[in-house]
Amino acid sequence: MFQHQTIHGEKLNAPLGKIVCVGRNYAAHAKELGNEVPSSPLLFIKPATAAVELEKPFSIPSDMGSVHHEVEVALLIGKTASAITEDNAWDYVSHVGVALDLTLRDVQDKLKEKGQPWEMAKAFDGSCPLTSWVPLSQIRDKNCIQIRLERNSEMKQDGYSDQMITSIPKLISYISQFFTLQAGDVILTGTPAGVGPLHSGDVVKATLDARYEFSSKVL
Ligand code: ZN
Repeated sequence: MFQHQTIHGEKLNAPLGKIVCVGRNYAAHAKELGNEVPSSPLLFIKPATAAVELEKPFSIPSDMGSVHHEVEVALLIGKTASAITEDNAWDYVSHVGVALDLTLRDVQDKLKEKGQPWEMAKAFDGSCPLTSWVPLSQIRDKNCIQIRLERNSEMKQDGYSDQMITSIPKLISYISQFFTLQAGDVILTGTPAGVGPLHSGDVVKATLDARYEFSSKVL
């Protein structure tokens, strides 16, 4: 079972329930996959069994086609609520981290063709490597959070949260109209452009807010 902990090594008691994700939240990423920008947030959920520690070597499926990295700003929910308003949405976020929304891109393309749900491509075991958590109070500007991903020392993804189509407060409010957010739940806020395949042996380095670095390796 995944255990939340802070970058200071402090274990957090709230259990991980669900991971609510948004697709196509950066225009440049929607474009690189040839997708339309949706008129309202496109939501999907990963179960708690998708989560693994990003800072430890992690494995990816080897026989289901390409596995893409999507680096994303992750938000840890600090207290339970539903129908949250945009104005006080940040009150429900206790920490910020980085997630890799691992995606079986070939499987997803087939599902999209048939108009079927994405779960098999997005919610499989190990599909959500998550870092330890930075307290929200340590983020310099929560309206402009930088996220980056290097693969084998090459910069692949680099984005700022102010480029999101739906801002973080709007996203939290929207999600909570459908799903009660419980303490320990996680929100993934969408990926900037530059997604691409991961392979066994790759070294990845994610950077949050230009100063928190998280490195790992694909087994
Ligand atoms: Zn994603």
